[in-house]
Amino acid sequence: MATNPLQHLMPSCNGAKAAAAGAVLGRPAADDPRAGTLRLNEIFHSIQGESTWAGEPCTFVRLTGCPLRCTYCDTEYAFREGATATVGDILDRVAAIGCPLVELTGGEPLAQRRAFDLVRLLCDAGNTVLIETSGAVDIAPCDPRSIRILDLKAPGSGECDRNLWSNLADLRARDEVKFVVTDRADYDWARAQIAAHGLDRRVREGALRAILVGAAWEQPRGTEVAGTPGLSPRELAAWILADRLPVRMQVQMHKVIWDPRTRGV
Ligand code: SF4
Repeated sequence: MATNPLQHLMPSCNGAKAAAAGAVLGRPAADDPRAGTLRLNEIFHSIQGESTWAGEPCTFVRLTGCPLRCTYCDTEYAFREGATATVGDILDRVAAIGCPLVELTGGEPLAQRRAFDLVRLLCDAGNTVLIETSGAVDIAPCDPRSIRILDLKAPGSGECDRNLWSNLADLRARDEVKFVVTDRADYDWARAQIAAHGLDRRVREGALRAILVGAAWEQPRGTEVAGTPGLSPRELAAWILADRLPVRMQVQMHKVIWDPRTRGV
């Protein structure tokens, strides 16, 4: 497990390399954070499909690059595709959409240093800001007004050793923890982590908003992603019910509404 994940992980993707270069060559964020640049994949308006915010209209900002390669990843196109945009450009495009629930996603959005400026300025503008993060990057620098949806990668993801466990100590009352389950072994692992880290107790005490558990969707092998046959949500539901597991099961709503391969939804 990396103790300094930004330095350790960033060299493995183009967006992260750009961010690393920016850390050396770019102006200090204090000069003008709107002028800082990010590698942007897409901005779109859709229905929030996961988390306790599922079902709400939401503006999505998808940043380019991710240091992980989860077997079930459905956004392989976000690993490298994108264009440079200033933080100011992104703020203006988000404002033009006029939907103040904003989710920063990827890829791994926090792999780019300027993402933390973007989060702060989105909060300053009065948005409710969700951050969908892999769990492999330090979330502590996120603006305290933001809401982190933190993945814990189970063994079936192929990226279990990338979990940055120190993130759990930084979780706040409005944050959520998410498990994507590919099989029974992943489910047992998730159940063990919930118990070991007292996540259910933290939800009961109001120190954490929710524990989300979802079945991995079938994902064909890609160029860089191994793929997975997926797991039946019905099977997962039966396990949760049998164990009386105190979690919130979820189905990716956008994949039910639209074709699962559709981009920009
Ligand atoms: S699913 Fe895994 S590989 Fe895909 S963007 Fe998220 S963290 Fe990266």
